[in-house]
Amino acid sequence: MSQGHITVVGSYVVDLMSRTPHMPKPGETVLGGPFRMGPGGKGGNQAVAASRQGSQVFMVTKVGEDQFGKDALQNFTRERIDTSYVFIDREEATGVALIAVDDQSENMIVVALGACGRLTSADVEQAEETIRNSAVVLVQLETSLEAVKKTLELAQKHGVPVIMNPAPYQKISKELLQKVTYLTPNETEASLLTGIEVTDEESACLAAKVLYQWGVPQVIITLGKKGCYYYNGRNTGTLYPGFQVDAVDTTGAGDAFNGGLAHALAEGQSISEAIRCANAVAALSVTKPGTAPSMPTKAEVTRFLQQR
Ligand code: ADP
Repeated sequence: MSQGHITVVGSYVVDLMSRTPHMPKPGETVLGGPFRMGPGGKGGNQAVAASRQGSQVFMVTKVGEDQFGKDALQNFTRERIDTSYVFIDREEATGVALIAVDDQSENMIVVALGACGRLTSADVEQAEETIRNSAVVLVQLETSLEAVKKTLELAQKHGVPVIMNPAPYQKISKELLQKVTYLTPNETEASLLTGIEVTDEESACLAAKVLYQWGVPQVIITLGKKGCYYYNGRNTGTLYPGFQVDAVDTTGAGDAFNGGLAHALAEGQSISEAIRCANAVAALSVTKPGTAPSMPTKAEVTRFLQQR
């Protein structure tokens, strides 16, 4: 199948993770371990998910002039992701996520976006040609809002479809939402966006209709292991059930889904095929620990879909 490239405009942070027997109380120090470190950030994770499916991916983000920034460039290159638009901030450090996971698998996360929180509209403008030539643009809400706005503006100007994963939730205007082609909130984000508590197919349908009325032409609400709900204004919408797998670690499932969706749409698959692919990429990602490292390869997804 012929295929255009994907431009991802989003965050890159280094995940610094430690287990802890219990969460420290304010003022308390807990001896934890083991410690794990790896590439993270919704933008970076989604770029890796799409690239491992075989898409050509351009990453637009910002890192610091430090060791983590150098590691970022190496990681992207190892994942065959183009780094022409990975900008270097001379003042801010590369972003980090400080993650503590306790014995009950509960987590506490502090994200310091650092450099990638300072991606400017002028930075995004430098990638205009690449955006113009993209089959799909993929954006989240984990960078500066001005970068998100510029991305949507340029994509609209050049008629390029945009997937917006509205994560983490930020209040965004209807004017901005109207520039999005596919909006992919999870249950929490769909609830915060619409004020309708989304927990199942029925409530997802109500929330999707609200988002559609606000001007989003295609809404895909992800529902964890239940799969996702798709609505485009016709009929009542469709539930695409998730694939049954033995889940080990569901962090990054949404990132896998969005990367898989972008890849399949860029490849020219129909929306129902693309959602099936996104569900498969996400299901396989939850069978392994970690976020970016847990993204499956194209061969794994093909084999998995043949078996179902
Ligand atoms: P997020 O990670 O953003 O909270 P979800 O939890 O809605 O997003 O998951 C995104 C997608 O990942 C789902 O639509 C589904 O395809 C897949 N998924 C999540 N959890 C599971 C699971 N336990 N088993 C199979 N697929 C899953």
